[in-house]
Amino acid sequence: MSKPLVAILAGAGMSTDSGIPDDRGPNGLWRRDPEAEKLVTYSSYMADPEIRRRSWLMRRDSPAVKAEPNAAHRAVVALERSGVPVRVITQNIDGLQQRAGLPERKVLELHGTARAVTCTRCHARSSMAEALERVTAGEADPPCALCGGILKSATIMFGERLDPEVLAQAMGIAKACQVFIAVGSTLQVQPAASLAGIAAQGGARLVIVNADPSPYDALAADIVREPIGTALPQLLSALG
Ligand code: ZN
Repeated sequence: MSKPLVAILAGAGMSTDSGIPDDRGPNGLWRRDPEAEKLVTYSSYMADPEIRRRSWLMRRDSPAVKAEPNAAHRAVVALERSGVPVRVITQNIDGLQQRAGLPERKVLELHGTARAVTCTRCHARSSMAEALERVTAGEADPPCALCGGILKSATIMFGERLDPEVLAQAMGIAKACQVFIAVGSTLQVQPAASLAGIAAQGGARLVIVNADPSPYDALAADIVREPIGTALPQLLSALG
């Protein structure tokens, strides 16, 4: 018998131990500070060079730049290396799951990635590190090297829609998997949260690893309230 496909939906809690705050969460920076929210809102960003200048500085000074993968990321890689088919659907933009060693093609980034930038005119993609080097060298708002267009982080800003292709792939995985583990997600942001429901309705065993109750708890076969850094490695080593 082939091994079951394990899907992992990773929310902000997955990267908390790496020192990355939950900016999007109910108590996160974007909700508390409307000025900060403008830095990640598409219309404000496109309209105002001063917002862009501050947004680049925010990216450069973010704790995410220096963050390292944690035990939860490494546990997912260990499961994959044990031969279990694994797909990670992440709400995080930190790229830490790939940096921990999971192949790119096994990670779906619902909210994009802060490790790359895209041109809003020609859509060319390049590295965030390179853009931030230009910022440090004195360019307040570095333009696209190819066409001079406005560059932005390759993340989904407020006011932008999710990539329909990435979302469709995520739904396909939710339908096809035998085990669906939601980790560190409040399961309150759609459409990401609905993936848990799709998986459970498709017959997958739904496991929720999160400190707080979620709207999908009633559908879960297992609910784990322990800290993610210890709970996830235990859970995954039992599957591997
Ligand atoms: Zn361009």
